[in-house]
Amino acid sequence: MIGFEYVKARAVSDALGAIAGNPDARFIAGGTNLIDLMKENIARPRKVIDITGLPLTEIEETESGGLRIGALVPNSDLAYDQRIASRYPVLSSALLAGASAQLRNMASTGGNLLQRTRCLYFYDTTTACNKREPGTGCGALEGFNRMNAILGWSNACIAVHPSDMCVALTVLEATVNVTGPHGDRTILFADFHRLPGDTPEIDTNLAPDEIILAIELPAEGFAANYTYLKLRDRMSYAFALVSVAVGLSLEGDTIKEARIALGGVAHKPWRVPEAEKLLTDKARSRADYGEAADAILEGAIGFAHNSFKIVLARRAIVRALEQAASGTPQIQSEKAIR
Ligand SMILES: Cc1cc2nc3c(=O)[nH]c(=O)nc-3n(C[C@H](O)[C@H](O)[C@H](O)COP(=O)(O)OP(=O)(O)OC[C@H]3O[C@@H](n4cnc5c(N)ncnc54)[C@H](O)[C@@H]3O)c2cc1C
Ligand code: SF4
Repeated sequence: MIGFEYVKARAVSDALGAIAGNPDARFIAGGTNLIDLMKENIARPRKVIDITGLPLTEIEETESGGLRIGALVPNSDLAYDQRIASRYPVLSSALLAGASAQLRNMASTGGNLLQRTRCLYFYDTTTACNKREPGTGCGALEGFNRMNAILGWSNACIAVHPSDMCVALTVLEATVNVTGPHGDRTILFADFHRLPGDTPEIDTNLAPDEIILAIELPAEGFAANYTYLKLRDRMSYAFALVSVAVGLSLEGDTIKEARIALGGVAHKPWRVPEAEKLLTDKARSRADYGEAADAILEGAIGFAHNSFKIVLARRAIVRALEQAASGTPQIQSEKAIR
């Protein structure tokens, strides 16, 4: 048992004061990821700052017609909130595709963004892992890499980001409101997570002494034509091999705007705006969906055990576009869209 100090923050300023100048301190929200990492001796914080008492639990309307989601809103409350389910169903669908009901009750919105990879070697402290211990090597490169990346990887790390929620937030072009010692700032969702490069130990562009306050959704929610398609080894309680979030704006049979993001394939949700533009002003057509899928997957390279993901992702993109265009989304749970 490794000892640590526990403090409970009562205000955001308390939380920032407790973490300032303290690289070995960590915030804890639902604890569904951090506690596991501590039990496995992968995270060893000297100080754990409980932020569950902070006033970050509301979902509020914004002046621009969107919603602001407090960082402590539980994943289940978010998925079943009627405003989310009716105006941003791709987000409800993605949330309900993740984890289990019990985990979603505990997991927070902010914590979901910061959950760490599920790469097998990251969790096995007897193996090399540059993300866990920089400079030790990457056990997955030559190991069992079935769940690993096909896009955006580096020779230092081929891990994927495991979140479902973040794939939907990428399609929705959400923003992340954070605060820290240098004040408040807003991070575009596309810039929040990083590719591994030479520093795979750094997952995001959030500074270690900053806290997430909220996620903001713009007004456009693609409520009529969307889907979240998650392909995995079991129908529940499994991380994505490949997932696809799609939002389409249609005028009659013509696509006016397409947004497509992939999960399970890279160190961050994967989006290629140039590929989406191939669908602009096009009629709904399987051939065009295939062309867009090829553009999204350009440069994809697999490893010994995961090259199948390239074919799987292409088929998943085409199917997801068909579902979204026909207004028949993949419903993860009958309760999702009520
Ligand atoms: C068995 C299992 C299966 C799962 N399956 C899925 C799945 O299929 N899909 C999926 O998407 N997820 C899945 N998850 C992951 C789950 O969604 C995350 O563990 C959860 O979202 C993390 O939220 P939390 O509040 O519990 O975070 P915590 O564990 O409390 O914190 C995680 C990290 O975030 C930091 N943090 C938390 N809140 C803030 C904040 N406001 N500001 C700054 N830092 C913060 C903490 O310091 C910590 O580093 C699964 C988890 C488990 C255990
Ligand atoms: S892929 Fe990344 S997380 Fe997995 S072993 Fe390699 S360095 Fe570690």
